Amino acid sequence: MEDLKYDTVMVRYGELAIKSEQVRNKYEKILIKNIEAMLDLHKIEYQEIVRERGRIYVISEDKRAPAVISNVFGVVSTSPVITTGPTLEESCKVAAAIGKEVIKDGESFAINARRAGAHDFTSQDAGRKCGDAVWEAIKDRHPRVDLKNPDHEIFVEIREERSYIFTGVIRGTGGMPLGSQGKMVALVSGGIDSPVAAWMMMRRGCEIIPVYFNNEQYVDEAYTQKAIDTIRKLKEWSPGHDFKVYEVPHGECLRTFRERGNIRYTCVFCKRMMYKVAIEIAKKEGAHGIITGSSLGQVASQTSENLLIEHHGIDFPIYHPLIGLDKNEIVDMAQRIGTLDISVRPAMGCQAVPKHPAIHGRIEEIMKMESEQVDFDKMIGDALSRARITIM
Ligand code: ATP
Ligand code: MG
Repeated sequence: MEDLKYDTVMVRYGELAIKSEQVRNKYEKILIKNIEAMLDLHKIEYQEIVRERGRIYVISEDKRAPAVISNVFGVVSTSPVITTGPTLEESCKVAAAIGKEVIKDGESFAINARRAGAHDFTSQDAGRKCGDAVWEAIKDRHPRVDLKNPDHEIFVEIREERSYIFTGVIRGTGGMPLGSQGKMVALVSGGIDSPVAAWMMMRRGCEIIPVYFNNEQYVDEAYTQKAIDTIRKLKEWSPGHDFKVYEVPHGECLRTFRERGNIRYTCVFCKRMMYKVAIEIAKKEGAHGIITGSSLGQVASQTSENLLIEHHGIDFPIYHPLIGLDKNEIVDMAQRIGTLDISVRPAMGCQAVPKHPAIHGRIEEIMKMESEQVDFDKMIGDALSRARITIM
Protein backbone atom coordinates (compact mmCIF):
# COMPACT_ATOMS: atom_id res chain seq x y z
CA MET A 1 0.00 0.00 0.00
CA GLU A 2 1.35 3.41 -0.87
CA ASP A 3 2.32 5.56 2.08
CA LEU A 4 -0.09 8.39 2.75
CA LYS A 5 1.55 11.77 2.78
CA TYR A 6 0.70 13.67 5.93
CA ASP A 7 1.82 17.18 5.05
CA THR A 8 0.65 19.29 7.99
CA VAL A 9 0.42 19.17 11.77
CA MET A 10 -2.77 20.52 13.30
CA VAL A 11 -2.02 22.04 16.71
CA ARG A 12 -4.78 22.62 19.26
CA TYR A 13 -4.30 24.80 22.28
CA GLY A 14 -6.70 25.23 25.10
CA GLU A 15 -6.75 27.83 27.80
CA LEU A 16 -5.66 30.60 25.46
CA ALA A 17 -9.09 30.53 23.89
CA ILE A 18 -10.67 32.07 26.97
CA LYS A 19 -8.35 35.10 27.08
CA SER A 20 -9.12 38.50 25.64
CA GLU A 21 -8.24 39.10 21.99
CA GLN A 22 -5.13 41.07 22.91
CA VAL A 23 -3.78 38.58 25.44
CA ARG A 24 -4.59 35.70 23.14
CA ASN A 25 -2.66 37.29 20.30
CA LYS A 26 0.34 37.78 22.50
CA TYR A 27 0.22 34.22 23.83
CA GLU A 28 -0.27 32.73 20.39
CA LYS A 29 2.81 34.56 19.16
CA ILE A 30 4.84 33.17 22.06
CA LEU A 31 3.46 29.69 21.41
CA ILE A 32 4.44 29.85 17.75
CA LYS A 33 7.96 31.02 18.62
CA ASN A 34 8.28 28.14 21.07
CA ILE A 35 7.05 25.66 18.46
CA GLU A 36 9.65 26.99 16.01
CA ALA A 37 12.40 26.66 18.61
CA MET A 38 11.31 23.10 19.48
CA LEU A 39 11.32 22.10 15.80
CA ASP A 40 14.76 23.64 15.36
CA LEU A 41 16.08 21.80 18.42
CA HIS A 42 14.98 18.51 16.89
CA LYS A 43 16.19 19.54 13.43
CA ILE A 44 12.73 19.15 11.95
CA GLU A 45 12.13 21.02 8.73
CA TYR A 46 8.91 22.90 8.14
CA GLN A 47 7.73 25.28 5.47
CA GLU A 48 5.44 27.53 7.38
CA ILE A 49 3.44 27.97 10.56
CA VAL A 50 0.02 29.54 10.17
CA ARG A 51 -2.66 30.65 12.59
CA GLU A 52 -6.23 30.08 11.54
CA ARG A 53 -9.44 30.07 13.57
CA GLY A 54 -7.97 29.22 16.92
CA ARG A 55 -5.64 26.56 15.55
CA ILE A 56 -2.05 26.50 14.48
CA TYR A 57 -0.98 24.60 11.40
CA VAL A 58 2.62 23.58 10.91
CA ILE A 59 3.36 22.69 7.32
CA SER A 60 5.84 19.82 7.62
CA GLU A 61 6.09 16.31 6.25
CA ASP A 62 8.46 15.14 8.97
CA LYS A 63 6.85 12.18 10.74
CA ARG A 64 8.33 13.22 14.09
CA ALA A 65 6.74 16.66 14.02
CA PRO A 66 3.36 15.86 15.68
CA ALA A 67 4.93 14.16 18.70
CA VAL A 68 7.63 16.80 19.10
CA ILE A 69 5.14 19.66 18.90
CA SER A 70 2.90 17.94 21.46
CA ASN A 71 5.71 18.57 23.97
CA VAL A 72 5.53 22.33 23.63
CA PHE A 73 3.87 23.85 26.70
CA GLY A 74 0.44 25.19 25.86
CA VAL A 75 -0.32 22.52 23.27
CA VAL A 76 -3.39 20.44 24.11
CA SER A 77 -3.06 18.00 21.22
CA THR A 78 -1.70 17.57 17.73
CA SER A 79 -2.71 15.56 14.68
CA PRO A 80 -0.84 14.65 11.54
CA VAL A 81 -3.20 15.74 8.76
CA ILE A 82 -3.48 15.45 5.03
CA THR A 83 -4.59 18.58 3.29
CA THR A 84 -6.53 18.55 0.08
CA GLY A 85 -8.84 20.81 -1.89
CA PRO A 86 -12.14 22.04 -0.36
CA THR A 87 -14.46 19.91 -2.49
CA LEU A 88 -16.43 16.87 -1.32
CA GLU A 89 -14.80 14.66 -3.93
CA GLU A 90 -11.28 15.48 -2.82
CA SER A 91 -12.15 15.02 0.86
CA CYS A 92 -13.82 11.67 0.23
CA LYS A 93 -10.82 10.41 -1.68
CA VAL A 94 -8.42 11.20 1.15
CA ALA A 95 -10.78 9.89 3.83
CA ALA A 96 -11.07 6.63 1.91
CA ALA A 97 -7.30 6.35 1.62
CA ILE A 98 -6.86 6.91 5.37
CA GLY A 99 -9.61 4.37 6.10
CA LYS A 100 -7.88 1.87 3.86
CA GLU A 101 -4.67 2.36 5.75
CA VAL A 102 -5.94 2.15 9.34
CA ILE A 103 -9.15 0.08 9.48
CA LYS A 104 -8.56 -3.65 9.83
CA ASP A 105 -10.88 -6.59 9.25
CA GLY A 106 -14.13 -6.31 11.22
CA GLU A 107 -13.26 -3.01 12.85
CA SER A 108 -15.65 -0.11 13.19
CA PHE A 109 -15.26 3.50 12.15
CA ALA A 110 -16.98 6.85 12.23
CA ILE A 111 -16.61 10.04 10.26
CA ASN A 112 -16.48 13.28 12.19
CA ALA A 113 -17.15 15.98 9.62
CA ARG A 114 -17.10 19.74 10.04
CA ARG A 115 -17.42 22.53 7.60
CA ALA A 116 -16.78 26.26 7.66
CA GLY A 117 -17.17 28.74 4.82
CA ALA A 118 -19.34 28.76 1.73
CA HIS A 119 -20.00 25.34 0.19
CA ASP A 120 -22.99 23.86 -1.59
CA PHE A 121 -23.20 20.98 0.89
CA THR A 122 -23.70 20.63 4.64
CA SER A 123 -21.40 18.94 7.14
CA GLN A 124 -23.95 16.11 7.37
CA ASP A 125 -23.60 15.65 3.61
CA ALA A 126 -19.85 15.58 4.00
CA GLY A 127 -20.04 13.00 6.78
CA ARG A 128 -22.35 10.74 4.80
CA LYS A 129 -20.41 10.98 1.56
CA CYS A 130 -17.04 10.41 3.20
CA GLY A 131 -18.49 7.51 5.19
CA ASP A 132 -19.74 5.91 1.97
CA ALA A 133 -16.35 6.42 0.34
CA VAL A 134 -14.51 4.79 3.23
CA TRP A 135 -16.96 1.90 3.34
CA GLU A 136 -16.65 1.38 -0.39
CA ALA A 137 -12.88 1.32 -0.19
CA ILE A 138 -12.73 -1.41 2.46
CA LYS A 139 -16.01 -3.27 2.15
CA ASP A 140 -14.20 -6.60 1.74
CA ARG A 141 -12.97 -6.14 5.34
CA HIS A 142 -16.51 -6.16 6.72
CA PRO A 143 -16.30 -2.74 8.36
CA ARG A 144 -18.97 -1.46 10.73
CA VAL A 145 -20.07 2.09 11.26
CA ASP A 146 -20.18 2.91 14.97
CA LEU A 147 -20.78 6.55 15.80
CA LYS A 148 -20.60 6.13 19.59
CA ASN A 149 -17.48 4.07 20.17
CA PRO A 150 -15.64 3.50 16.90
CA ASP A 151 -12.28 1.77 16.62
CA HIS A 152 -11.27 4.57 14.26
CA GLU A 153 -12.58 8.07 13.91
CA ILE A 154 -11.76 9.89 10.73
CA PHE A 155 -11.99 13.66 10.96
CA VAL A 156 -12.88 15.73 7.93
CA GLU A 157 -12.66 19.49 8.27
CA ILE A 158 -13.61 21.34 5.16
CA ARG A 159 -12.70 25.00 5.05
CA GLU A 160 -13.01 27.72 2.46
CA GLU A 161 -9.65 27.07 0.81
CA ARG A 162 -8.77 23.53 1.72
CA SER A 163 -9.77 20.46 3.71
CA TYR A 164 -7.95 18.77 6.54
CA ILE A 165 -8.37 15.01 6.91
CA PHE A 166 -6.85 13.04 9.77
CA THR A 167 -7.39 10.28 12.25
CA GLY A 168 -4.76 10.26 15.01
CA VAL A 169 -4.73 12.64 17.95
CA ILE A 170 -1.62 12.94 20.13
CA ARG A 171 -2.15 14.37 23.58
CA GLY A 172 -0.03 17.41 24.37
CA THR A 173 1.47 18.57 27.64
CA GLY A 174 -1.14 21.32 28.04
CA GLY A 175 -0.42 24.34 30.20
CA MET A 176 0.54 27.79 28.96
CA PRO A 177 3.24 28.90 26.52
CA LEU A 178 6.57 29.20 28.30
CA GLY A 179 7.36 32.88 28.66
CA SER A 180 3.73 33.93 29.03
CA GLN A 181 4.05 34.17 32.83
CA GLY A 182 6.70 35.70 35.06
CA LYS A 183 10.13 34.31 35.81
CA MET A 184 10.70 32.03 38.79
CA VAL A 185 13.77 30.88 40.64
CA ALA A 186 13.67 27.06 40.76
CA LEU A 187 15.57 25.30 43.53
CA VAL A 188 16.86 22.19 41.81
CA SER A 189 18.74 19.50 43.73
CA GLY A 190 19.97 16.11 42.60
CA GLY A 191 16.73 14.47 43.78
CA ILE A 192 13.62 13.27 41.97
CA ASP A 193 11.18 15.93 43.14
CA SER A 194 12.62 19.34 42.46
CA PRO A 195 12.94 19.01 38.66
CA VAL A 196 9.30 17.89 38.52
CA ALA A 197 8.28 20.97 40.51
CA ALA A 198 10.25 23.24 38.19
CA TRP A 199 8.72 21.56 35.16
CA MET A 200 5.20 22.07 36.49
CA MET A 201 5.73 25.80 36.77
CA MET A 202 7.38 25.89 33.34
CA ARG A 203 4.25 24.21 32.06
CA ARG A 204 2.23 27.05 33.55
CA GLY A 205 4.25 29.47 31.43
CA CYS A 206 7.13 30.47 33.72
CA GLU A 207 10.69 30.90 32.59
CA ILE A 208 12.93 29.50 35.30
CA ILE A 209 16.26 30.42 36.78
CA PRO A 210 17.59 27.12 38.17
CA VAL A 211 19.59 27.39 41.39
CA TYR A 212 21.61 24.51 42.79
CA PHE A 213 23.17 24.74 46.24
CA ASN A 214 26.37 22.77 46.31
CA ASN A 215 26.77 21.24 49.76
CA GLU A 216 30.43 20.69 48.87
CA GLN A 217 32.09 18.48 51.50
CA TYR A 218 28.72 16.90 52.37
CA VAL A 219 27.93 15.51 48.90
CA ASP A 220 30.00 13.86 46.18
CA GLU A 221 30.75 14.98 42.62
CA ALA A 222 28.21 12.52 41.24
CA TYR A 223 25.44 14.22 43.21
CA THR A 224 26.29 17.64 41.83
CA GLN A 225 26.52 16.17 38.35
CA LYS A 226 22.99 14.79 38.74
CA ALA A 227 21.69 18.26 39.54
CA ILE A 228 23.45 19.75 36.53
CA ASP A 229 22.29 16.99 34.18
CA THR A 230 18.76 17.34 35.47
CA ILE A 231 18.81 21.04 34.72
CA ARG A 232 20.11 20.27 31.25
CA LYS A 233 17.19 17.89 30.73
CA LEU A 234 14.74 20.59 31.84
CA LYS A 235 16.34 22.93 29.34
CA GLU A 236 15.21 20.61 26.53
CA TRP A 237 11.64 21.58 27.42
CA SER A 238 12.49 25.23 27.04
CA PRO A 239 14.07 25.76 23.62
CA GLY A 240 14.43 29.37 22.66
CA HIS A 241 14.68 30.49 26.28
CA ASP A 242 18.10 30.62 27.91
CA PHE A 243 18.61 29.11 31.33
CA LYS A 244 20.71 31.22 33.64
CA VAL A 245 21.93 28.60 36.09
CA TYR A 246 23.27 29.52 39.52
CA GLU A 247 25.50 27.15 41.45
CA VAL A 248 25.79 28.44 44.99
CA PRO A 249 28.43 27.12 47.43
CA HIS A 250 26.61 25.98 50.55
CA GLY A 251 29.02 23.66 52.39
CA GLU A 252 30.71 26.23 54.61
CA CYS A 253 27.39 27.61 55.69
CA LEU A 254 26.23 24.15 56.72
CA ARG A 255 29.46 23.50 58.57
CA THR A 256 29.20 26.77 60.49
CA PHE A 257 25.67 26.01 61.52
CA ARG A 258 26.52 22.47 62.61
CA GLU A 259 29.30 23.83 64.77
CA ARG A 260 27.33 26.59 66.40
CA GLY A 261 23.64 25.70 66.23
CA ASN A 262 21.46 22.82 67.34
CA ILE A 263 22.41 20.12 64.89
CA ARG A 264 18.86 18.75 64.83
CA TYR A 265 17.75 21.95 63.08
CA THR A 266 20.30 21.65 60.30
CA CYS A 267 17.76 20.94 57.56
CA VAL A 268 15.41 23.74 58.59
CA PHE A 269 18.27 26.17 58.79
CA CYS A 270 19.65 24.96 55.47
CA LYS A 271 16.29 25.51 53.81
CA ARG A 272 15.85 29.00 55.29
CA MET A 273 19.29 29.93 54.09
CA MET A 274 18.49 28.62 50.61
CA TYR A 275 15.26 30.61 50.50
CA LYS A 276 17.01 33.81 51.55
CA VAL A 277 19.73 33.45 48.95
CA ALA A 278 17.17 32.45 46.30
CA ILE A 279 15.09 35.54 47.09
CA GLU A 280 18.12 37.77 46.55
CA ILE A 281 18.72 36.06 43.22
CA ALA A 282 15.04 36.45 42.33
CA LYS A 283 15.14 40.17 43.08
CA LYS A 284 18.26 40.59 41.00
CA GLU A 285 16.78 38.67 38.08
CA GLY A 286 13.33 40.20 38.24
CA ALA A 287 11.73 36.86 39.18
CA HIS A 288 8.41 36.69 40.99
CA GLY A 289 8.77 33.64 43.19
CA ILE A 290 10.72 30.60 44.32
CA ILE A 291 9.85 26.99 43.41
CA THR A 292 10.72 23.96 45.52
CA GLY A 293 9.99 20.24 45.28
CA SER A 294 8.61 19.91 48.80
CA SER A 295 5.83 17.38 49.27
CA LEU A 296 4.03 17.33 52.59
CA GLY A 297 5.44 14.82 55.05
CA GLN A 298 7.82 13.24 52.57
CA VAL A 299 10.92 13.75 54.70
CA ALA A 300 11.68 15.24 58.10
CA SER A 301 12.17 18.76 56.76
CA GLN A 302 8.78 18.67 55.06
CA THR A 303 6.43 18.30 58.02
CA SER A 304 3.87 21.08 58.26
CA GLU A 305 5.58 22.34 61.42
CA ASN A 306 8.91 22.58 59.69
CA LEU A 307 7.39 24.20 56.63
CA LEU A 308 5.91 26.79 58.99
CA ILE A 309 9.33 27.53 60.43
CA GLU A 310 10.97 27.58 57.03
CA HIS A 311 8.58 30.30 55.88
CA HIS A 312 8.69 32.35 59.07
CA GLY A 313 9.40 36.01 58.29
CA ILE A 314 9.82 35.36 54.59
CA ASP A 315 7.89 37.91 52.58
CA PHE A 316 8.29 36.49 49.11
CA PRO A 317 6.16 33.84 47.40
CA ILE A 318 7.55 30.33 47.72
CA TYR A 319 5.71 27.81 45.53
CA HIS A 320 5.60 24.09 46.28
CA PRO A 321 3.71 22.65 43.31
CA LEU A 322 4.16 19.05 44.55
CA ILE A 323 2.89 19.69 48.06
CA GLY A 324 -0.20 17.48 47.69
CA LEU A 325 1.22 14.77 45.45
CA ASP A 326 2.23 11.25 46.44
CA LYS A 327 5.72 10.01 45.70
CA ASN A 328 4.56 7.53 43.06
CA GLU A 329 2.76 10.33 41.23
CA ILE A 330 5.90 12.43 41.27
CA VAL A 331 7.98 9.49 40.03
CA ASP A 332 5.58 8.93 37.13
CA MET A 333 5.92 12.56 36.14
CA ALA A 334 9.71 12.47 36.43
CA GLN A 335 9.67 9.49 34.09
CA ARG A 336 7.64 11.36 31.55
CA ILE A 337 9.73 14.51 31.81
CA GLY A 338 12.89 12.48 31.34
CA THR A 339 14.62 13.43 34.58
CA LEU A 340 13.98 10.19 36.52
CA ASP A 341 16.86 8.22 35.02
CA ILE A 342 19.24 11.00 36.00
CA SER A 343 17.81 11.49 39.49
CA VAL A 344 18.09 7.82 40.44
CA ARG A 345 21.75 7.49 39.47
CA PRO A 346 23.81 6.42 42.49
CA ALA A 347 25.43 9.29 44.34
CA MET A 348 26.19 10.39 47.86
CA GLY A 349 23.44 12.76 48.98
CA CYS A 350 23.75 15.27 51.79
CA GLN A 351 25.74 13.94 54.77
CA ALA A 352 24.95 16.99 56.87
CA VAL A 353 21.46 15.63 57.49
CA PRO A 354 21.39 14.80 61.23
CA LYS A 355 20.52 11.30 62.48
CA HIS A 356 17.54 12.65 64.39
CA PRO A 357 16.33 15.80 62.66
CA ALA A 358 13.80 17.98 64.47
CA ILE A 359 10.34 17.10 63.23
CA HIS A 360 8.35 19.38 65.52
CA GLY A 361 10.64 22.38 65.33
CA ARG A 362 10.10 25.56 67.31
CA ILE A 363 10.26 28.97 65.67
CA GLU A 364 11.77 30.74 68.69
CA GLU A 365 14.66 28.31 68.87
CA ILE A 366 15.70 28.67 65.25
CA MET A 367 15.24 32.46 65.33
CA LYS A 368 17.46 32.64 68.36
CA MET A 369 20.17 30.64 66.62
CA GLU A 370 19.93 32.75 63.51
CA SER A 371 20.31 35.98 65.43
CA GLU A 372 22.85 34.91 68.04
CA GLN A 373 24.95 32.06 66.78
CA VAL A 374 25.49 32.75 63.09
CA ASP A 375 25.87 35.89 61.02
CA PHE A 376 23.01 35.22 58.64
CA ASP A 377 23.34 38.33 56.49
CA LYS A 378 27.04 37.84 55.99
CA MET A 379 26.49 34.23 54.99
CA ILE A 380 23.91 35.27 52.40
CA GLY A 381 26.25 37.90 51.01
CA ASP A 382 29.15 35.42 50.85
CA ALA A 383 27.05 32.79 49.13
CA LEU A 384 25.86 35.28 46.52
CA SER A 385 29.29 36.65 45.78
CA ARG A 386 30.69 33.15 45.32
CA ALA A 387 27.82 31.89 43.13
CA ARG A 388 28.81 30.55 39.73
CA ILE A 389 26.60 31.47 36.81
CA THR A 390 26.35 29.41 33.63
CA ILE A 391 24.13 30.11 30.64
CA MET A 392 22.59 26.98 29.11
P1 ATP B 1 14.48 16.52 46.04
O1 ATP B 1 13.91 15.16 45.97
O2 ATP B 1 13.81 17.50 45.18
O3 ATP B 1 15.95 16.53 45.88
P2 ATP B 1 14.45 16.16 48.79
O4 ATP B 1 13.43 15.10 48.82
O5 ATP B 1 15.88 15.80 48.91
O6 ATP B 1 14.23 17.02 47.50
P3 ATP B 1 14.62 18.27 50.72
O7 ATP B 1 16.07 18.09 50.87
O8 ATP B 1 13.77 18.47 51.92
O9 ATP B 1 13.97 17.08 49.97
O10 ATP B 1 14.38 19.48 49.75
C1 ATP B 1 13.16 20.06 49.52
C2 ATP B 1 13.33 21.03 48.36
O11 ATP B 1 14.36 22.00 48.65
C3 ATP B 1 13.82 20.34 47.10
O12 ATP B 1 12.78 19.78 46.36
C4 ATP B 1 14.50 21.47 46.36
O13 ATP B 1 13.55 22.30 45.72
C5 ATP B 1 15.13 22.24 47.49
N1 ATP B 1 16.51 21.78 47.66
C6 ATP B 1 16.98 20.86 48.53
N2 ATP B 1 18.30 20.70 48.39
C7 ATP B 1 18.71 21.54 47.42
C8 ATP B 1 19.96 21.86 46.82
N3 ATP B 1 21.08 21.27 47.19
N4 ATP B 1 19.97 22.80 45.85
C9 ATP B 1 18.84 23.41 45.45
N5 ATP B 1 17.64 23.15 45.98
C10 ATP B 1 17.57 22.23 46.95
MG1 MG C 1 12.07 14.90 47.84
